[in-house]
Amino acid sequence: MAGVETIWEIKEGAGAVNFRHVTVAGGGVLGSQIAYQTAFKGFDVHVYDVSVDAVDKAKQRIERLKPNYVRDLQATRDQVDAAEARIRYFTDLAEAVADADLVIEAIPEVVDIKMDFYKKLGQVAPPKTIFATNSSTLLPSQFADATGRPEKFLALHFANQIWLHNTAEIMKHPRTDEAVFQAVIDFARAIGMVPLPLHKEQPGYILNSLLVPFLEAAQMLWVNDIADPQTIDKTWMIATGAPEGPFAILDTVGIRTAYHIAHAKGQAGNPEFEKLAARLKSDLIDQGKLGKESGEGFYRYPNPAYTQPDFLRS
Ligand code: NAD
Repeated sequence: MAGVETIWEIKEGAGAVNFRHVTVAGGGVLGSQIAYQTAFKGFDVHVYDVSVDAVDKAKQRIERLKPNYVRDLQATRDQVDAAEARIRYFTDLAEAVADADLVIEAIPEVVDIKMDFYKKLGQVAPPKTIFATNSSTLLPSQFADATGRPEKFLALHFANQIWLHNTAEIMKHPRTDEAVFQAVIDFARAIGMVPLPLHKEQPGYILNSLLVPFLEAAQMLWVNDIADPQTIDKTWMIATGAPEGPFAILDTVGIRTAYHIAHAKGQAGNPEFEKLAARLKSDLIDQGKLGKESGEGFYRYPNPAYTQPDFLRS
């Protein structure tokens, strides 16, 4: 094992790839996490945001991330401070990307905002710069022309709480250069992620392509009165050895998100989903049961029933 760890240490970090300078556009929830994780692994990071106020908020978010690295990853005070010191902040896009090898875009999930951003970015970034979008729901091919460099553009999608959930879904669009794809895979590994390559575009990437239908199937069993949520979770947990069932996962995702998805599908003409949306609203949302964040959803928190030793035995 020691040998494996040594190889990992050599491969990981800023020395392992050709990128040195990384710019993160948007210092919000995900952008601040991506910037800090990248700096923590030894890269020089520029954070670009739209205003001094937005940059100040990004700085505060990054400051608040540090204790997580100490608590969850046993990082030392010196390590977390050194990571923070590798980050510089910009409100001028041209300055922010002047020497960037890679720009990771984590700006709002709004088509017009992203389109406008990529048009500007394509004009000011040096020719060497690779662009990656962290978009959760929009496909890179939608913005490829706006970038002016479709072959150097792809998706690099992180999960929230990046330091714990270290997935990096890396997705090509039809015109992404293979060498660019490989370089971003190597970069993801270098910043401590597990790279998960997608060779073709897929809405929802890998995780949500699996998770969304799984959660919907579970909810349909419930809303059609086939079985109750605890029974459905128990079935999944006992049969697969998974630590949580679909309704526990829904509590983490948040009941409002589940409702919005069901409602949208209902509005699009699917009556089963309209029924599901109505039930989520009446049985949970209207009663303040929004999931883990509110202390109750399908389960009560902390110490939900599915974590109790007798849950799987009766
Ligand atoms: P957020 O609203 O927290 O942050 C967006 C940031 O972008 C803000 O700091 C805002 O000031 C800045 N911004 C707005 N317009 C800009 C512009 N034109 N140029 C530069 N910066 C601009 O959003 P978020 O949750 O961090 O999401 C950002 C992206 O990451 C989205 O594409 C989203 O789909 C994706 N994502 C989010 C999550 C999540 O759990 N929040 C997970 C994975 C991926």
